[in-house]
Amino acid sequence: MPIGMTKRLRILKRDGGCCFYCGRQLHTDFPEELTNTMSRAHPGMESYLHMDHVHPQRDGGWHDEDNLVASCRACNSSKGSKSMEEYRAYLERQHPVVRAIAALKLVLNLVDLPQDDDFFDAIELLEARDTRIVFPGETYRNAMSEKEGVSE
Ligand SMILES: [Zn+2]
Repeated sequence: MPIGMTKRLRILKRDGGCCFYCGRQLHTDFPEELTNTMSRAHPGMESYLHMDHVHPQRDGGWHDEDNLVASCRACNSSKGSKSMEEYRAYLERQHPVVRAIAALKLVLNLVDLPQDDDFFDAIELLEARDTRIVFPGETYRNAMSEKEGVSE
């Protein structure tokens, strides 16, 4: 069952008009019937509003508003049927710092240099600080709920 435009707009508004995952501003003024056929290069196409299922349909996630977020086409297709945490882990694995650390560990294993606890503490600290993915949509929601908390 398709998701109606009224519902899409309500979700877009709730999510601050932006893609939950990358934060790009989204629009809806693109003929919906063309979104599946137009080429990727079509102007405006990448910023057209898509609906992403936070809890994937695969796992029984349905069209509840709580389970939908505004998303651009690129993020929607790269998240695919991953859960939110699977998608976060997937992006973190591609993070340059994570890849650099993995390469460094590999090299250190090959040359068998002495590695003390300080060394591993430093790497853990680096991983924890620089590679945790926080989606712009999460930041936005936190800001909104803090605002509501203040006005009450
Ligand atoms: Zn996006």
